[in-house]
Amino acid sequence: MIIIMKPGVTQASILSVTGYIQSHGLDVHISAGKEVTIIGVIGNKSLISSDSLASMKDVERILPVTESYKLANRKFHPDPTSITVGNAVIGPDTLTVMAGPCAIEGEEQLLTIAKTVKECGATFLRGGAYKPRTSPYAFQGLEEEGLRYMQKASYETGLATICEIVSPEAIETAHKYVDMIQIGARNMQNFILLKEAGRSRMPVLLKRGLSATIEEWLNAAEYIIAEGNPNVVLCERGIRTFETATRNTLDISAVPVLKDKTHLPVIVDPSHATGSYRYVPSMARAAVACGADGLMIEVHNDPSCALSDGPQSLNFEKFKALMEELSPYCALVNRRKDALS
Ligand code: PEP
Ligand code: MN
Repeated sequence: MIIIMKPGVTQASILSVTGYIQSHGLDVHISAGKEVTIIGVIGNKSLISSDSLASMKDVERILPVTESYKLANRKFHPDPTSITVGNAVIGPDTLTVMAGPCAIEGEEQLLTIAKTVKECGATFLRGGAYKPRTSPYAFQGLEEEGLRYMQKASYETGLATICEIVSPEAIETAHKYVDMIQIGARNMQNFILLKEAGRSRMPVLLKRGLSATIEEWLNAAEYIIAEGNPNVVLCERGIRTFETATRNTLDISAVPVLKDKTHLPVIVDPSHATGSYRYVPSMARAAVACGADGLMIEVHNDPSCALSDGPQSLNFEKFKALMEELSPYCALVNRRKDALS
């Protein structure tokens, strides 16, 4: 349930409400907005009486929250969340572009890509060091060596960095080198990994599972936040449907649906969603137009020779053109296409 307090509520009234809830063994989440303060109740609400709460000073209304996710729920936190990662921000005022290779292949290659995507206006460098490949014989990533290259590229460019982790142990390693961790589609419901990511306090990009519903996805985010880490960004990357013309089906409607259901930032990955560089620009434009807070785009210096996901990677020229094309779309939705100062 959420308790909506009257405008101008006193601290003493808030404390008596939270004190009553906590004395019954439940947790509270306070969202103090510009106009109203909302107190979210987390736990078994049959232990408290809504009549008692309703009669307390400065309580305006009590509303049930039927969804199983609470901390990720927009009802608990009506204002959209902004998350700062290194020099970058992901939130309602900007369009944050994360760009880079599917897999980190070498130090020079990564640095060249980093410099180029920065010049084009990206604020994040992405790159896979631990690659969860469908085939065990495909390139599995450079692991810690790759993370070191990410750190170096970040020092040289000022870009924030993001890498996927596939095990709880890798979170500790990633923490030494990069700014944000990514939990990939294949691990969206790996609850041990989600809890460890929650305990780590590192910003987390949580990709949608290949066949996860939005509710399952938000519950996965809740696992991370419930461990004390509120820095979660959601990434729609396409879901599996009967359609085979694209690698996955980009569920573009997930963006406005999520904007209703959660305060967490939402970004879109048109590269994994479509599987083809041809469709990346149009889906990127659609994502910005429908309210996404950012994009994740695979960019490679020579896609035809990429060790992973070459067919969906943009070369430098195509990435530059896309970034230019996005400007009027950003203006349309009142977002700054963010660039590093
Ligand atoms: C990736 O971003 O490198 C990746 C593997 O994506 P996904 O988990 O969405 O398949
Ligand atoms: Mn990839």
